[in-house]
Amino acid sequence: MMTHTWILKEFLGSNFRESLDLYVYNVCPDLLPIQKGITAEFTHGIPRRFFYPPQHQKAAYVLFHLLVDDMAHHGQIHTDPVCGFNPNSQGYAYRRGQSLIEPILEFQQRMGMDVDRRTAAYRAHTIIELTFDLRLVQEAGEVRLYELFSEAVDHTVDKKMDELCETLDWFFGVEAAVIRQALEKGLSSGTLERIKSLKDIEGRIGFYIDRFGLDRDNDAAWEGTRTLLLQAMRLVDDFDAFLSPTLCAIKNSSIPCFL
Ligand SMILES: [Zn+2]
Repeated sequence: MMTHTWILKEFLGSNFRESLDLYVYNVCPDLLPIQKGITAEFTHGIPRRFFYPPQHQKAAYVLFHLLVDDMAHHGQIHTDPVCGFNPNSQGYAYRRGQSLIEPILEFQQRMGMDVDRRTAAYRAHTIIELTFDLRLVQEAGEVRLYELFSEAVDHTVDKKMDELCETLDWFFGVEAAVIRQALEKGLSSGTLERIKSLKDIEGRIGFYIDRFGLDRDNDAAWEGTRTLLLQAMRLVDDFDAFLSPTLCAIKNSSIPCFL
């Protein structure tokens, strides 16, 4: 999630604090599925709009998220959402994850929970995203991403909720009351605490273990996951290899830039 905050901050340049609520629009596709009945497939598969009425212009920053995901997964921006999973996708997260596939297969075998190569490719991309995000949080420089994001959430909750709900209602075509409920959960202090618990590698090992049904109490699961994440940390040390092509592709897309 901090990767999305970072890319938007870089995209906005010196204006990066001007409209803090944009950071919340920008994470909505990942945040709204906290609500029962809203799935990540739905929020990520929504038909893409490149034109916005003035009162809903900020929805362009929901699209911004989807375009960044496109680059991470497919290495290019698509006008229509890509359906289905392709283990040979050519985005940054899949290309960098290639060398993790064998270690994941071996790890799963050791755990007596074999997976196929396709599943391993998916998990490898998840590990790349988790570790890229972690390195960013650790090394992104003078502006601390968690603090920026928390500030954006506070500002939005205090001053911008009605506008946010109406615009997301328009963008996703989901009832405003359902959107509001999802946002209240997604922007709650409990959720923010959970996000903050991913600030270090231990938090991310735990996340991976839970996400893929491994056993938190099994030391071998914990150590095996740690080894995979440490291996991945060495694969994601050049932020610019993702940042530059992503900013370039977004600037060349038809996304409206209004700041
Ligand atoms: Zn996403």
